[in-house]
Amino acid sequence: MTEFRGGYVGTLLEVDLSRRRVVTAPLDPAVARRTLGGNGLGAEILWDEVGPGVDPLSAEAVLVVATGPLTGTPWPCSGRTEAVARSPLTGIYGDSNAGGTFGPELKFAGFDAVVVRGASETPVVLRIIDGKASIDNAADVWGLDTVETEIALRRRYASPGLHVASIGPAGERGVRFASIQATPNRSFGRCGLGAVMGAKGLKAIAVSGSRRVPIAEPGAFAALAKEMHSRVRANAMFPACSRYGTPGLVRVVNEIGRFPTRNFQNGEFSEAEAISGEALRERFFVEDAGCFACPVRCDKVYRISNGRFAGVETSSVEYETLNAFGAGLGNADLELILYANERCDRLGLDTISTGRAIGFAMELAERGIVSRSDLGGLDGTWGDEATILGLLEQIAAREGIGDVLAGGVRRAAVCLGAAAVPYAMEVKGMEIPAQDGRAQQSMGLAHVTSNRGADHLKAFPTLDETGSPDEVARRYGTRYLPEMADPHATRYKALLVKDGEDFGVVVDSVGVCKSGGTFVMAEIYWPEIAAGVSAATGWPLDEAELRDIGERTVNLTRAYNARLGITRADDRLPARFTREPSPARGALGEVAHAEELLDEYYALRGWDAACGWPTAATLERLGLYGARRALWGGSDG
Ligand code: SF4
Repeated sequence: MTEFRGGYVGTLLEVDLSRRRVVTAPLDPAVARRTLGGNGLGAEILWDEVGPGVDPLSAEAVLVVATGPLTGTPWPCSGRTEAVARSPLTGIYGDSNAGGTFGPELKFAGFDAVVVRGASETPVVLRIIDGKASIDNAADVWGLDTVETEIALRRRYASPGLHVASIGPAGERGVRFASIQATPNRSFGRCGLGAVMGAKGLKAIAVSGSRRVPIAEPGAFAALAKEMHSRVRANAMFPACSRYGTPGLVRVVNEIGRFPTRNFQNGEFSEAEAISGEALRERFFVEDAGCFACPVRCDKVYRISNGRFAGVETSSVEYETLNAFGAGLGNADLELILYANERCDRLGLDTISTGRAIGFAMELAERGIVSRSDLGGLDGTWGDEATILGLLEQIAAREGIGDVLAGGVRRAAVCLGAAAVPYAMEVKGMEIPAQDGRAQQSMGLAHVTSNRGADHLKAFPTLDETGSPDEVARRYGTRYLPEMADPHATRYKALLVKDGEDFGVVVDSVGVCKSGGTFVMAEIYWPEIAAGVSAATGWPLDEAELRDIGERTVNLTRAYNARLGITRADDRLPARFTREPSPARGALGEVAHAEELLDEYYALRGWDAACGWPTAATLERLGLYGARRALWGGSDG
């Protein structure tokens, strides 16, 4: 029988906002072992409780915030936490992962996860202090931005160390790509989970705890964690990751033609240098910042000293933000990007989807599909500051065309007419992040197979980004070379994406970072995660069991989407990627071949080639009998 010995607190907080009730419940050790926590646990709760008839913004919807067995431990980069719900943006499975300190603090407060059900008629805050929880009035903070909310709650509870996950006005108003902002300035950015909180009347979750995460084998775990810290620090990428963070990618990604420009019209931005990580650091750097137990500290605090945005201080300015509010909008003004980043964080908006929605509107203006008057008098030209900031505020306020864009680009295109549809750059309703499958074929496939819609982080193919033949040889053997390390080749990319998804879901479930140590640095892979989780929990988990868990969660989330009607027809890139060769030099005049790779990908996964669903045999092999019955009929077995 599986029992908890470490890694987990062993307790869930079940919250019913409709009845104003909080209940402490045991976490079933068998469920923890089967799912690991985080992403895996959230997916299982969603499958069980949020069926096709549940509107993501209704009281029946469920929001799960879940840590993993390594969250809050000394393991490097162990500050990660997963939020899971049916997405109001895409209507399918939704999740988002944030770093910082909120997740560790939740465990220190005595809970592995919080499951929020129901909805409150008046604004509330969920307060969790050292094993005790209450649902408190939040009328005084409703309407405040996320920074103001955090400050106000710390003052109210006389707790300067309070860790807060809150929504801003965008989440309150139901913007479908609203974020949840978590201490310190980290985001559960994607999938619109801030709108789920807003619909529940839940302004914030505030936590504080003084416990430690139990560890089953303290000596072995401490030695392993120490070794992992050393390996991360010694990694060849450590200095650049630590100095520049993800903004350091701008130069290199622009060179390979994978830097989306003007709503993906190009993959190369002629002014990329002006918005590079190097320029950002040189002009605005104040100090390093980072998540719990992270040696990398890839986050930075930036300050604007002079000019129209003088005094603005912001952090978590990622590569994605530099693209979404920079090249994606034809904008080379770093100060404008920093200010937009700060506004998004305060208003509670996903910077990726917000930037893409504005880029979509700008392209429609360029093509005469929307007029100046449609844009509320804004110019609409690429790089225009008034348009960028005006649309950002209109989206958050759901005013004018901002109300249309607040539904995401897929809904907005339907609303604005057939002429707008080709310029909605999305997959399954999710705005495409800062990659271009024409310049990196694995990324195009990753965008279509991700279970939360267009996304790079689910498969996170890094081995062929700029070519890592040594790592390919180490993991797969030399027979996969040179194609697997070649961004333009399609051969072996289905395998790369499938393996990345299985590993990624485990990384998200155990509570560690994809940037520090794992995907980007390739120091921490299956054997290291297996050893760490085994020492933390005392369960003898090996690589094979972890791979099964990863595959199982990927299949469960695909089955969840299948139950909602998702099929192979939805695994599709916008025609711009598949019909228009990229003009970027680094893309070699290619189009994306993602859809041609689906047969191979489905075969590797054991999915039906016609409909793209996991077959009955695959679901049975993974023990997903409920999913097998829901999709294919038969008994639970
Ligand atoms: S590498 Fe960056 S995002 Fe990852 S845990 Fe460290 S500071 Fe956070």
